[in-house]
Amino acid sequence: MKKIIAVLMSLVIIAGISVPAFAAEKECDCGFNPVIYVAALGSATVYENPGTENEKALFRPDTMPLVEEAVSVILPVIPALIAGDFDTFGDALIGFINSAFGALALDGDGNSRENVYAPEEYPVSGDHGIEHSYYFGYDFRLDPYEHADRLYKDIQTLKELTGHSKVQLKASSMGGVVTMAYLEKYGTEDIETVIFQNCPIKGTAVAGELFCRKFEINKDALLNYALDAIPSLEQDFLQGFLYGLATALDDVGVWSLLLSMADVIVENLLDRVYDEALIPIFGTLPGIWSFVPDEYYEEAKTVMVDESTQAGLIRKLDNYHYNVQKRAEDILNEANKDVKIYIVAGYDIQRTPLVTAYMNTSDGTVDTKYASVGAVTADIRDTLPEGYTQAIDDGHDHISPDFMIDASTCALPEQTWFIKDMLHCTTHDGHGKFYELMLTGEEQFYVDTYEEYPQFMQNNIPDMTFDKVENLSATEKFKKQPNFTNFVMMLRFFIDTVKSFFAGLFVK
Ligand SMILES: [Zn+2]
Repeated sequence: MKKIIAVLMSLVIIAGISVPAFAAEKECDCGFNPVIYVAALGSATVYENPGTENEKALFRPDTMPLVEEAVSVILPVIPALIAGDFDTFGDALIGFINSAFGALALDGDGNSRENVYAPEEYPVSGDHGIEHSYYFGYDFRLDPYEHADRLYKDIQTLKELTGHSKVQLKASSMGGVVTMAYLEKYGTEDIETVIFQNCPIKGTAVAGELFCRKFEINKDALLNYALDAIPSLEQDFLQGFLYGLATALDDVGVWSLLLSMADVIVENLLDRVYDEALIPIFGTLPGIWSFVPDEYYEEAKTVMVDESTQAGLIRKLDNYHYNVQKRAEDILNEANKDVKIYIVAGYDIQRTPLVTAYMNTSDGTVDTKYASVGAVTADIRDTLPEGYTQAIDDGHDHISPDFMIDASTCALPEQTWFIKDMLHCTTHDGHGKFYELMLTGEEQFYVDTYEEYPQFMQNNIPDMTFDKVENLSATEKFKKQPNFTNFVMMLRFFIDTVKSFFAGLFVK
């Protein structure tokens, strides 16, 4: 027995000596630890039968075949819908959803069908530098811990390929979920920096509400959602046209009419769509479950999963939820002792309108309070209640100049930035420079380190910079809107001004 131990000991010693010696031989002295971009949902395409003649992209699907299929299936049953025959229409709709997405569903243990997966890529080159980051994509359906395991392996490979002992992680959206699972399981030994860009670290209300069947179509939210997205379109003419059209249709009541029709459809079909499509497909995906915030989580489980057939799946869901999402503040504070951490959240953009939480300020997808890990936020387009004072007095001012956000309650209040009018993961050179500072700086910097990067910043898309957040009048705010010089945006301003003028008249 002693002999075995001695042999083992010497093996351990040899391994302990030889590994660093080997690594030291090709150590890189460039001074910049390699960056891994932990990408967002949809970062790797999930295929059915990949590499065969029956290969089909399930997510994201090719748009045109999907639209063609939808049209060919849905169009013929429109007359049935108009005649109030919801069963016939429901059969077609549910059939379409299942044929398009059904193969994505996981089994009762949260595992995929063998013929459905996202082909994996591994680091093969040691190229690194600010222009050369390594892209980490993954199958969005699976347990974030599975991706954390692969991320760990890739980090080891990358360390060997580059001759650096640490890497830097830049996580975008769902990439933050994977990164949090990684930090929980593997700690910070291999990490120098973590950037979280618009990440649902504490979830996103749209997932929580949809998984609790809290489905609601709100006209104003839907309209504002569409209008907020218009500036990100690339064609100027289309922007103005869509804006004009959308607001004009609103003024004459078309949206209200369409939505009241939609309400009738929802009322008659919602249960079937949930039971026959949403629950059996999306309710089985731990990746989507990782977005469900804590205040919805247990209720969502009663709606979406079944203990008797999905015990293995539920173990995976609980494992992520209770060990990562619910403990996010602890994980971040623990990691913060050893690594540089930067959290970026967007705000004042209309969030997904199909749920009752449409008043939450957000980047359009992730609620600001969840991405910032704990900020107190006013409702969209509103301010904090009159007389509100900063929740935690830490000697710094953490209330935004527009009185919409209190950052003092964040997990890392000195390391969390808020960019007004930043649409989810939509960046420009200004973001690039900001992130570069995070990745190249030796030391952690804070919200009071650089005058040009205060805690609250106004996204300035035309100039690709950030401005100071101010309480602006309509005219002043308009000047900061994208494409100010553009004629069609003048039209947008004109419509807004006329509308608010008349609104003001009627109120008085
Ligand atoms: Zn290097």
